[in-house]
Amino acid sequence: MLQLLIRNCVMQGKVMPVDVGVQGGRVEWILPSGQVADAPAERTVHANGQLLLPGFVEPHIHLEKAHLLERMQAEPASLQEAIRITGEMKRQFTKEDMRERSMRVLKRDVVNGVTHLRCHAEIDPVLKLTAVEVILELKEQMADVLDIQIVAFPQEGIFQQPGTAAWMEEALRMGVDAVGGIPYNDRDAEEHLAYVFGLAEKYGKPLDFHVDFSDNPDDRNIVRIADMTIERGLQGRVCAGHVTSLGSVMSSELPAIADRISEAGIHIIALPATDLYLGGRGDMERPRRGLAPVKTLLERGVNVIFGTNNIRNAFTPFGTGDPLDMAWLLAQTAYMGTGQEAEQLIRMATYGAASALGLSDYGLTPGCPADMALYPVRNVREVLLDRPERTQVWKRGKLTAETSKREQIYWDREHIDCVTHTKEVR
Ligand SMILES: [Zn+2]
Repeated sequence: MLQLLIRNCVMQGKVMPVDVGVQGGRVEWILPSGQVADAPAERTVHANGQLLLPGFVEPHIHLEKAHLLERMQAEPASLQEAIRITGEMKRQFTKEDMRERSMRVLKRDVVNGVTHLRCHAEIDPVLKLTAVEVILELKEQMADVLDIQIVAFPQEGIFQQPGTAAWMEEALRMGVDAVGGIPYNDRDAEEHLAYVFGLAEKYGKPLDFHVDFSDNPDDRNIVRIADMTIERGLQGRVCAGHVTSLGSVMSSELPAIADRISEAGIHIIALPATDLYLGGRGDMERPRRGLAPVKTLLERGVNVIFGTNNIRNAFTPFGTGDPLDMAWLLAQTAYMGTGQEAEQLIRMATYGAASALGLSDYGLTPGCPADMALYPVRNVREVLLDRPERTQVWKRGKLTAETSKREQIYWDREHIDCVTHTKEVR
């Protein structure tokens, strides 16, 4: 008997509706709808033509400093101020407090159809390893509904904050999944890079940077990171978030930089909510957009993806944690409005991000874990345009979230329009 049978759903790349059989937490088969008349299953879902997508992969998020708006004493006007204000608030963080705010984010992720997530847990002389400890506990607690990867993240720098280097190494011994780096917030970028690359090699872990977060076209640590990645044979194992300075580089210089990033197999993570909000602020005339040059990087073969980064704090006083909000924001600000680009954006939030996180058996093909969600729309473009509810979400074939939405217009007593997405699909 099957664990789960989904009848009559549509899938990206398939012309006709399909049925999907799940067994042992994995996709067992995908066949034209109705071809298998009798397939006993513990649970059968009649999708009525809804779209089935693999689970979203959130590649870059900060859990323990989410949801801080209520306790902010001042509104920051720059990245430096955001770091300073948050640094002060961190002194009041307790483990229980971090756990509660992180959990608020993680629950929304499950409802939003996120099945894999990578977060940056901060390590500094104030928090020491408490954020890492809290998120390691949550990782275990959430294991049945969400796969969590943790980056050891030295937000305040490593060498300008005595003790941080040792805590970074201890975090790796405790079992974090990746080494973080932030060369723009330390006493010497080269020293910082040498240390984190060395740590990643020592523990056999991938690297995940916050880098070149500015409008200054001369900030090019990404090129140094690309060189070091190639020298050390770490192609495909390095992510770089922000990289907004490349948005200010002259177009004549950009292709060569993009080619070097592509050669190094570095995954570039645009963080549009934060990047657009903090970028371009110093420009009194003709403000720059403050976003990585997404389309140029894509054209040169770079795996560009996007993440939520912060939710409702000094860095980004917005956010729901829905990857579709970020897809929609990037679609408009990176000029990605065609049907093809809508598909590309959804691919970035799924397969692209899965590749960045090194997930080896991700996707909706037989043999892969059945991590997936149903959308009450007919095609992928409508996923981006409607940003609809995820009617059902599964992790390894087990139902983890269900959302129904009812919208009705009362024209008069006799005429009621039901305008829910699901109704339209049916
Ligand atoms: Zn970040």
